[in-house]
Amino acid sequence: MESCRPALPITSPAVLPDSLCQHTPKCPSAESPDREAAKVIAAHAVQGWSLLCNAVLLFEDTGEVLPDGQIVAPHRPTDTPAFTA
Ligand SMILES: [Zn+2]
Repeated sequence: MESCRPALPITSPAVLPDSLCQHTPKCPSAESPDREAAKVIAAHAVQGWSLLCNAVLLFEDTGEVLPDGQIVAPHRPTDTPAFTA
């Protein structure tokens, strides 16, 4: 008897790539501690936020919203102790 074999899933070109980043070198990912170093792809200065290449929303008070909806509280440089040499 001939068994019915499930069709292999076809990888659709519509699926998002691992990263939409086309910069060189690549922007840090949203999971990276370096994420604020990603390029700004949409700046809305009037509204006080920028969209970074890694899909992080960066607010002018240094708060962030990550692509997975996680909210990062503002972390102004003045809040962190200065490094002394
Ligand atoms: Zn990029």
